[in-house]
Amino acid sequence: MAYGTKEREFLKNELNGIKNDGIFKEERIICAPQNSEIDVVFPTGTDEKKVINMCANNYLGLSSHPDVIEAARKGLDHRGYGMSSVRFICGTQDIHKELENKLTKFLGTEDTILFPSCMDANAGVFEAFMNEKDVMIADRLVHASIVDGMRLAKAMTDTYKHSNMDHLEKKLILHKDKRLKLIITDGAFSMDGDLAKLDKIVELAEKYNALVFVDDSHSSGFIGKTGRGTHEHFDVVGKIDIITTTLGKALGGASGGCVSGRKEIVEMCRQKARPYLFSNSIAPVIVAASNKVIDIVTETTERRDKLEENTKFWRKGLTEAGFIIKDGETPIVPVMLFNAKLSQDFAKDLYSEGIYAIGFFFPVVAKGQARIRTQLSAAHDMVHLEKALAAFIKIGEKYEILHKTKEEIIEKYGS
Ligand SMILES: *Cc1c(COP(=O)(O)O)cnc(C)c1O
Repeated sequence: MAYGTKEREFLKNELNGIKNDGIFKEERIICAPQNSEIDVVFPTGTDEKKVINMCANNYLGLSSHPDVIEAARKGLDHRGYGMSSVRFICGTQDIHKELENKLTKFLGTEDTILFPSCMDANAGVFEAFMNEKDVMIADRLVHASIVDGMRLAKAMTDTYKHSNMDHLEKKLILHKDKRLKLIITDGAFSMDGDLAKLDKIVELAEKYNALVFVDDSHSSGFIGKTGRGTHEHFDVVGKIDIITTTLGKALGGASGGCVSGRKEIVEMCRQKARPYLFSNSIAPVIVAASNKVIDIVTETTERRDKLEENTKFWRKGLTEAGFIIKDGETPIVPVMLFNAKLSQDFAKDLYSEGIYAIGFFFPVVAKGQARIRTQLSAAHDMVHLEKALAAFIKIGEKYEILHKTKEEIIEKYGS
C-alpha cells in the first residue's frame, strides 16, 4: 500500500506543525440560510447558537432574498439543473448570454465573459492575452487569486508598494519598453477595507500607455453612487480595461465570476482562458438568480444606500466608543487590536455575546496588525447593529482597550 504508515505519519506531522503554529483553521457550521442572523455550531459539537453575522460578504443581503430564491426556482424549472458541459461545447444557454450582457451594461464595459468563479477569472485572464513581451505590475496586497493568475502567465511580473503611486510610476518608467504594460489592483482591499486610488492609477496609465486591471469583488453592487464599483466611485467608468468580479459576494453570494472589459481581451479569454475552456458552465439556477440580482441592483439603490447608512452608523459607533478602526468608507471595518491572542480572545467573547466576527492575525495580516474584521450588510437592521455595538463595548471595557492609543494597547498586550 502506497499510503502507508510512513506517509500518514509525515502528513500528520505537517498538520501538527500547522496546529503548533496556531494557524490551524476550524470551520464553524451554519445550520440556516446565510443571513444577518444565523444558527452556528462548532465542529467539536457545541449546542446550536443564534448569532448576528458580522463576517459574511453578503453586503447587499441578497444571499437569501425571496426574489432571488424565486428566480433560482424558476431557472431550475425552465433551464434544468446542470449543464454537464463547458461553455464552448454545449454549455451556453440564452440565460448565460443574458447575464453577460447585463453585467456589461451594469459595469459600463464593452463585453463580459463568465467564469466558474472570480478565482478562475483571475487564474485565466493574464495568460490569455499576455506573453514574454509584456509586463504585469501589481499592487503588493492584491488578492491571492491574482497572485496565482500572474504565476500562470508568461509575462514578466513586478509589484509596487501598496497604493504607492510614486512607486507605481517608477515601475512604469522602468518597464516603458514592454509591449503591453498592465497595472493590476484590487478595487477594495479585503483586509483593510481601503480603496485603490483608481483616479490616480488611470492618470498614470494614460501617461505611460499602460492598461488597467481592477478586481472589484469587494465593490461590485455597492461602491459608487449606483453601486457599479470603484470605477464609478472615482469617476473613471469606461477607462478600466479589465474588471474582474465575483457573483459570490454582494451579487447573490452563490458562485461565479467574470472578466469584463475591452472586447478583444474578453474574446481572447473565450479563445484561450483555461478555466473557461476546461471547467464546467455555471449552473442555470445560479445564472437565473444572478440575472435577477443584476435587475435588482440596476433598478434601485435602496440596498446599497441602506448598507452605506449601516456602515456610517457602525464606523461612528465604534469610533465614539473608543475603538481604533481603519479609516475608510467601505463596509469592511477592521477593529484594530494589534495582538494575535487578544484578537482570538476578543472574538470568542463576542461569540458568547451572540456576535459572530473573526479575529485575523499573522500571516493573514502583517505582524502586529491583529484585528477583528467586521463586515456590514444591508441585511443588518438597527437592532442587530445596536446589539453588536453594545457587545463590542462590553468586551472592550473588559480588556481595557477603549480610548487607548495603539502604543498603550501594545504595551499592555504586546504585538
Ligand atoms: C473573493 C475574492 C475572489 C474570489 O472570488 P470567487 O468568485 O469566490 O472565486 C477574487 N478576488 C477578490 C479580490 C476577492 O475578494
